[in-house]
Amino acid sequence: MSMTKELAKAYDPKPVEEKWGAFWQDEGLFTADPKSAKPKFSMVLPPPNVTGILHMGHALCFTLPDIITRWKRMQGYNCLWLPGTDHASIAVHNVIEKSLAEKGLSREKIGRDEFLRIAWEWKAKYGGVITAQLKRLGASLDWSRERFTMDPGFSRAVKQVFVSLYAEGLIYRDYFLVNRCPHCRTVLSDIEIEHKDLKGKLWHIRYKVEGSDESVVVATTRPETMLGDTGLAVHPDDERYAHLHGKRVILPLQNRLLPVITDERVEREFGTGAVKVTPAHDPVDFELGKKHGLEQVIVIDGQGKMTEAAGPEFAGLDRFAARAKVVEALTAQGLLVKIEDHDHAVGHCYRCKSVIEPHLSWQWFVRIKPLADEAIRVVEDGSIEFIPPNWTKTYFEWMYNIHDWCISRQLWWGHRIPAWYCRDCGRIMVAMDAPEKCDKCGGPIDQDEDVLDTWFSSGLWPFGTLGWPDETEDLRAFYPTDLMSTGFDIIFFWVARMIMLGLKFRGEIPFRHVFINGLVRDLKRRKMSKSEGNIIDPLEMIGKYGTDALRFTLAALAVPGMDLALSEERMTGYQAFANKIWNASRFVLMNLKSERPEVRDADLTLADRWIRSRLSAVTAGLDESLTQYKFYEAADLIYHFIWHEFCDWYIEFAKVGLREANATTEAVLADALDRILRLLHPFMPFITEEIWQHLPVAGKSIVVAPYPKAEAGWKDEAAEKTMALLQAVITETRTIRAGNKIAPKDKVRLIVKRAGREETAGLEAQAALVKTLAGLASLEFAAALPEGEGLLKGVAGPFEIGMVPPKPADIGQERDRLQKDLAKAAAEIEKIERKLANADFVAKAPAEVVAENRARLEELLTRREKLGQNLAGLADPS
Ligand SMILES: [Zn+2]
Ligand SMILES: [Zn+2]
Repeated sequence: MSMTKELAKAYDPKPVEEKWGAFWQDEGLFTADPKSAKPKFSMVLPPPNVTGILHMGHALCFTLPDIITRWKRMQGYNCLWLPGTDHASIAVHNVIEKSLAEKGLSREKIGRDEFLRIAWEWKAKYGGVITAQLKRLGASLDWSRERFTMDPGFSRAVKQVFVSLYAEGLIYRDYFLVNRCPHCRTVLSDIEIEHKDLKGKLWHIRYKVEGSDESVVVATTRPETMLGDTGLAVHPDDERYAHLHGKRVILPLQNRLLPVITDERVEREFGTGAVKVTPAHDPVDFELGKKHGLEQVIVIDGQGKMTEAAGPEFAGLDRFAARAKVVEALTAQGLLVKIEDHDHAVGHCYRCKSVIEPHLSWQWFVRIKPLADEAIRVVEDGSIEFIPPNWTKTYFEWMYNIHDWCISRQLWWGHRIPAWYCRDCGRIMVAMDAPEKCDKCGGPIDQDEDVLDTWFSSGLWPFGTLGWPDETEDLRAFYPTDLMSTGFDIIFFWVARMIMLGLKFRGEIPFRHVFINGLVRDLKRRKMSKSEGNIIDPLEMIGKYGTDALRFTLAALAVPGMDLALSEERMTGYQAFANKIWNASRFVLMNLKSERPEVRDADLTLADRWIRSRLSAVTAGLDESLTQYKFYEAADLIYHFIWHEFCDWYIEFAKVGLREANATTEAVLADALDRILRLLHPFMPFITEEIWQHLPVAGKSIVVAPYPKAEAGWKDEAAEKTMALLQAVITETRTIRAGNKIAPKDKVRLIVKRAGREETAGLEAQAALVKTLAGLASLEFAAALPEGEGLLKGVAGPFEIGMVPPKPADIGQERDRLQKDLAKAAAEIEKIERKLANADFVAKAPAEVVAENRARLEELLTRREKLGQNLAGLADPS
């Protein structure tokens, strides 16, 4: 309770951020306690990739939930926000294989063990970059519980899930046509494919009918695959080909015989209505081939090269080189009928952007339907809510059309599939621990070479991080979590899978609310990208403006369901806000006595009553906004309150009270600052802690100080009304001064025309205050403004006022000022009228906003009328 040293002259964010960042960690203020009797609030951090570098998307995705967590913690919740990183199989492979390639090496050349050794080494060296950057954002994460998806404990959870799902028949192995990236040399799941519309071609190729002079023309976008054709399909009702049913055609270049099959799935309108069937290289053909028992001939291998089966002419060629050569050979034989332009969607790898190759191979799959049904139910019944709710529709669309999930990847960095194959009898064993030999024939065994899809392990994040499969204290205390904040782009990759796996293995939803962040764009709403040169780097911004300014900017721009249009100017603005708070706090601190004085109700000034009433309203407003995740609204509320009410007005009024040694005003001022800091803390954690620690308040840290509650008893409508009158008179007096170049030090006489009895009495009672703040020699009240005294007239709320200028007024200047004021009022009237005429606005805006607009319009109409009268009086002096 003792006074500490005064605040530094100016706010310098860096040392303050370093000091409190370390203090919070050292004091364990973010460390959750599973034994706590307090209500819990828990979240898990979307684990950034170990290869990650902090970008603005992260900054947003970590700042918003941090605001919620800090708010909840101050409300007395036992908060856990658990951090960690993801091993990111493909991303790590890309990094390491690139550096291997520079040395003329490849993963195949160095082998699995050496590759993994390098990967772990790389992780130890660079894996901490993203976490160190994360700490600078001030995110209140419990680092004592940091996890990594390849930790031994987490790896055990992954294995357990695989083994259980396999035992239940929900994981199976199948020889299937999957998407494969020839560059990354792994298969990918359907949603890892990006479809891009490309300008392509349609090649028409002639296939001769066996034992006749007739031929059939087929069209294809990928002529190289014809080398793997094993059939020709037509629609059963297509009259053009009815005579070919049961016949065979000769495959050009290969001279193999292909049966003509009929199938309803053939589109008669596409090309010639006859299609080649390549079961090993096309998903539709794969299905057709299975149905009709066609052979599967693989002519393109996993690296995108032609196989021996493609024939000696083509074997070893890259797939695109083979395409050219096939076209050339067909042309030479006169079998290429024509080439047409043809735009179509082509799948690309989401990591390296290579063209995807359908690839036939043995893979592991999750039978998804039973899991998806449950995951749909919990969103349908409202157990899990998406914010904003429009994402629910997107979620359902995907979940209703979900396909089995291919989870094996031909990579090494990751969770190796816990399946072993017997070399002798082919038996498959799936187990937590490696068996020594085949449990059927005793033969030697080999473990599956593949690892699991990274999303398989991150799908377990909400419970795997809490110690599952053990029934830990943490798991009991903190699961299910309360909030998941993430980007819309990983609703399917991640959110849906966490829901499915959480329900399956915990029997409970993994989180209650899913908050979907917008994208951070530039001011012209363009995506930030290197090529556009419009990237705003969060670390650079922190260096320039401080973390608090960056955080506040992101909160102020975060309108649910909208992308953010970010600019550096915004951050400059909120840096100024931080400085404003700093300077106001310095003033308050310099005026505080060594002990905190008490509030005596009888001594409360109008301004004291007013700021307490406003504090009560703003506190309630913040609570409402944050409960609804309306960060922008909360930020706007606290910003305007601090700047335009506390700093601009209350401090000015309080100066008067302080001069009169009113201890109650001192107490109200100190208490208001304390509350303001606590209200603002979740948004601007560093500056608020620094100032708060200088206040004569009890408590270790603002981090765990109670979040202010709205004091219902402070609501004081009379004080707010009277204060509005004072503000109007003072503001108008200042405007008249400015317009007539009357210096603030020149004391002037002000005459107020009496308005309503209540209003006039309210103003009269505060005459001394108004005189001080408006710099008046005297404040007089009259039934009418005296004519012919060269009064400078204005309108302040319900009052007409007249200032007696220290020197005779310049009529021209005065006219200009009134005209300017009139134009300003007219413009605002037009704006509000337009708003109110908009049926959409009136229907959708909250009732109080509409009412506020109507009241403001009334006020402005009166003002316009009176200003007009004053102007007329000037032009025609009576
Ligand atoms: Zn790739
Ligand atoms: Zn065996």
